Amino acid sequence: MAHENWQIVIIGGGPAGMSAALWAKRLGCEPLLVEAGAEPGGQLLRTFNRLVDCPGFLGQTGAEIARQVAEHLKTLAVAVRLRSPVTRLSLAENLVWFDSEAISYQALILTLGVQKRRLGIPGEEEFAGRGVSTSATRDKHLYRGKSVAIVGGGDGAFEEALMLAEEGCRVTLIHRSDRFRARPMYRDPVLVHPQIRVLTCARLTEIVGTTAVTGVNLEIAQPGGPVETMHLPLAGVFLTLGTNPATQLTAGQLELDSEGYIVTDRYGATSAAGVWAAGDACRPLLPSLVTAFGDGATTAKAAFDWLHHPKES
Ligand SMILES: Cc1cc2nc3c(=O)[nH]c(=O)nc-3n(C[C@H](O)[C@H](O)[C@H](O)COP(=O)(O)OP(=O)(O)OC[C@H]3O[C@@H](n4cnc5c(N)ncnc54)[C@H](O)[C@@H]3O)c2cc1C
Repeated sequence: MAHENWQIVIIGGGPAGMSAALWAKRLGCEPLLVEAGAEPGGQLLRTFNRLVDCPGFLGQTGAEIARQVAEHLKTLAVAVRLRSPVTRLSLAENLVWFDSEAISYQALILTLGVQKRRLGIPGEEEFAGRGVSTSATRDKHLYRGKSVAIVGGGDGAFEEALMLAEEGCRVTLIHRSDRFRARPMYRDPVLVHPQIRVLTCARLTEIVGTTAVTGVNLEIAQPGGPVETMHLPLAGVFLTLGTNPATQLTAGQLELDSEGYIVTDRYGATSAAGVWAAGDACRPLLPSLVTAFGDGATTAKAAFDWLHHPKES
């Protein structure tokens, strides 16, 4: 069966993918950028804080930056296919599948990014947006003065706990271990804050409610002690559990590290010929907008060189 053929297909329309598409086009290739969501931007669309660390974008939100870069792609007439989650890859046949439809490519760039971890407990999906939130930056105003819980032990959880306390919330930070990944600059102010209590060795078992969240059920097990159960009445639960690379598609076809990140060389080449990867899915030292932009651009140049001199890499 004949498939629509593209010179370069880029899967993932976050900053790394947008940059790869822009550079591939500027180098004279015909790239197709494929994105699962309704607009390009990736994590930027969930970045509600104003950026202070991306050269040239001081004070803009992630969504504003995403839309500027998307406009840039439009002015270069880069082909973008939205609302198109790739469901399967066949690297041996150079095929990208969307359910039963496939397109083929000469070179492939994977910019799949990361996805938020989930707890997988009852109530988590059911009350999403009705008391369960993944961003205090975005939703804190909805919980002003109320009791809330925040789940997690990294910088994000501690930063958001402080943010919610500043909003007048009574905050319970729930963490499964008695050690925190958060750095002292985030951790220490939380541990002494009068409006924040910290529960360690605690595991959320259920989020309960009616039309919206009314509380959570927990199990608490200090080392060597009995397992205690507890119900906490509250209005909101913030899940700040970190991320996993969105690389399930590549399993068994590409070399991944022990946590599922794509292994690449310094130009983004993967273990498969003609396939490059960039951005947060490759465990960058500094997961950020600038590294995603830079690494995406590098893969476009590497793919361009390979298409023109394929035997050299
Ligand atoms: C709340 C928050 C705040 C942040 N603040 C900053 C900051 O201040 N400064 C900074 O530099 N960085 C910040 N970052 C980090 C920055 O946004 C990321 O490092 C960057 O977005 C990584 O880009 P990426 O293209 O690798 O991946 P992502 O942005 O994750 O994009 C990956 C894209 O791939 C798509 N995709 C995945 N699988 C498929 C599939 N099967 N089919 C089709 N499409 C698929 C996804 O839908 C997504 O759009 C922040 C991130 C968050 C979440």
